[in-house]
Amino acid sequence: MIKVCKFGGTSMSDGMNFRRVADIMNGDPDRRFLVVSAPGKRFGNDSKVTDLLYSAHDALEAGGDFRAAFTKVRDRFSGIVREIGLAFNIDSVLDECEREIEAEKSRDFTASRGEYLSARIMAGLLNVPFIDARDTVRFFEDGRLNDKETFALVKKAIRGKRRAVVSGFYGACPNGKVKTFSRGGSDVSGAIVARAAGADLYENWTDVSGFLACDPRIVENPARIPALSYQELRELSYMGANVLHSEAIFPVREANIPIRIKNTFRPDDEGTDILPAEKYRFTGKTVTGIAGKRHFTVIYLEKSLMNAEIGFTQRVLSVLLEYGISFEHIPSGIDTMSLIIDSSLLDGGVLAKLCADIKQTVRPDHLRVFDDIALLAVVGHGMSRNVGTSARLFSAIAASGVNVRMIDQGSSELNIIVGVDGEDYERTVRAVYREFFGE
Ligand code: ASP
Repeated sequence: MIKVCKFGGTSMSDGMNFRRVADIMNGDPDRRFLVVSAPGKRFGNDSKVTDLLYSAHDALEAGGDFRAAFTKVRDRFSGIVREIGLAFNIDSVLDECEREIEAEKSRDFTASRGEYLSARIMAGLLNVPFIDARDTVRFFEDGRLNDKETFALVKKAIRGKRRAVVSGFYGACPNGKVKTFSRGGSDVSGAIVARAAGADLYENWTDVSGFLACDPRIVENPARIPALSYQELRELSYMGANVLHSEAIFPVREANIPIRIKNTFRPDDEGTDILPAEKYRFTGKTVTGIAGKRHFTVIYLEKSLMNAEIGFTQRVLSVLLEYGISFEHIPSGIDTMSLIIDSSLLDGGVLAKLCADIKQTVRPDHLRVFDDIALLAVVGHGMSRNVGTSARLFSAIAASGVNVRMIDQGSSELNIIVGVDGEDYERTVRAVYREFFGE
């Protein structure tokens, strides 16, 4: 059995936690390869090393005191090495990083040094080889992951090694320059290593005991989800359940490798299993989880006989394409359609221009804009098995006095998306949770 483990920022935040991670790795001989994040927060208003590095980079770009900003990074890593009492010359590695950051002047390179340093120290602590993601993870020119080449390179790098530490979060472009994934991307790095190692299990170690059925900031102490499918995970994490990066399943999905979310601080807790279709067994629950996001804008279009006007939708979408704007959903009626778009894409006057262009292109009878819309996704394979799920859902929402602004249900019946006014969002989540998870 091969297990690949990824440890997130809180699991790497100080020397004691480095030791905790080492104990977890040493406690199971199947745990062969590990991918690490940069040190995260140690307490509430602490800074993540990645954020300290971004600030250092900003200082460098602005011609400010980069070295002073980098001192904070220095202190974090020297502190960790001191705490674990490792004979490792961290100062010279930090000096080298500082020189390289100044020479490269690249935001991604600077940010990547958090994972690089974490991985080097962890490799020292475990006394196993360090594998630099710069040499093994490859991106295409356009920024997408070159998965074939990456899997081959990682495979080659780990061949013949019983254990190894790989740095998370970054890789290299074809020209050798370092590029990072988006924030939280070490989850993707872990999945890549799991795939390349032909792992039986990808353990993702974090600071919570698995996925919760809804946001604990909204509902106190929500139920843990013991198991969910890749598809359910994708829906929930896309819609804001942020235990795992939303792209982390792609590398493992084709190889049917299950992911287990575990808590570094409570290693005996069961966690959550994320399973490929072939291993997934129906849990008996109608709804697996609820997630949601705020700050969407709806552009509502109405035009008589829209249904008969061939190419209407295509022309609307071609305007979006021109602006390089992606949409989330397009619920439609006979003579109506709504575009639901992440509001941040419409800032800085873009919304007004976009609406003017849409008006000119398709000449709707009415165009209206609703802002501050929240979307809530109710997700679960069980919904297609149980008649009356949407009746329960909407009765619960209605009973809480919330007006539903939009409904979208995929034909797979895996999810129902409900749009409500931003100010009603939390009330809606509570009502839906109570309906499907309340005693
Ligand atoms: N350190 C990076 C971040 O803070 C990547 C990661 O932790 O996964 O986003």
